[in-house]
Amino acid sequence: MSKIVYEVYALRYATHAGRHASENFIFSDFHDDVLMPLDFFMWAIKGRDQVIIVDTGFDAETAKKRQRTYLQSPVEMLREIGINADDVTNVVITHMHYDHCGNLMAFPNARFHIQDDEMAYCTGRCMGHEALRKPFEVKDVINAIQCLFEGRLVFHKGNSKLVDGIFLHQLGGHTKGLQVVTVPTVRGEIVLASDAAHYWDNIRERSPFPIVVDVEGMLEAHEKIEALADGPYHIIPGHDPKILEVFPKLPGNNNIALLHVQPVFPNQGNIQNVTSQQLATTSQ
Ligand SMILES: [Zn+2]
Repeated sequence: MSKIVYEVYALRYATHAGRHASENFIFSDFHDDVLMPLDFFMWAIKGRDQVIIVDTGFDAETAKKRQRTYLQSPVEMLREIGINADDVTNVVITHMHYDHCGNLMAFPNARFHIQDDEMAYCTGRCMGHEALRKPFEVKDVINAIQCLFEGRLVFHKGNSKLVDGIFLHQLGGHTKGLQVVTVPTVRGEIVLASDAAHYWDNIRERSPFPIVVDVEGMLEAHEKIEALADGPYHIIPGHDPKILEVFPKLPGNNNIALLHVQPVFPNQGNIQNVTSQQLATTSQ
């Protein structure tokens, strides 16, 4: 029997252009604090008879409130890859921060896969601290509870199989119950790392993004992600604009990247020969 493989898409639905590099690393020593934009993604996994959405983005109202540039509703973007939100039955919520779990109600027939620890985190005593509460929207937490009472939350504890070939792995650091998703593709095993690594540079430099509940847990997560992925570009960071430079894009839509296709750098040949220095220069 041949090995099952999936197509994986990154859909960039919003961006934050005015961010500086010093805001993106916990250990930073920047002489020249350059702009380092942050993009927002939803991910979609397509198999022969499976569709799985990973995270649900945020809506236009939240974009306005948090002063993020909203490009398009990620739920609408799904149509461009042949997915109708009404037909989706499985959605993974990597964690409950506002940019990953808005729009839950736009998937009326879905069950949402979430870690025990994440629901306990966003409904428990930690939310008494403003610094920890800030990346959450209470309306999203209320929607999750609504889904719980509709029997549409599926709880996971630690690592588990989602469907054939696709696994959830709980990793520490960013929140208490963040999970990443491993997916087999024709180019090997990829890891949708979500916010276990916002940028490739967080993981490369072993310098976590500053929104972190447990620095040790996040550094351990970086090691684990590297062990799970088949190579550096099989790690898909949660917010890195370089995703759309490195991976081929869906014809006709510059905001959708094909993560299952071998990445190629313009004028530099195949990924295997590309150094991190070259990666840095592709955005200039
Ligand atoms: Zn995020």
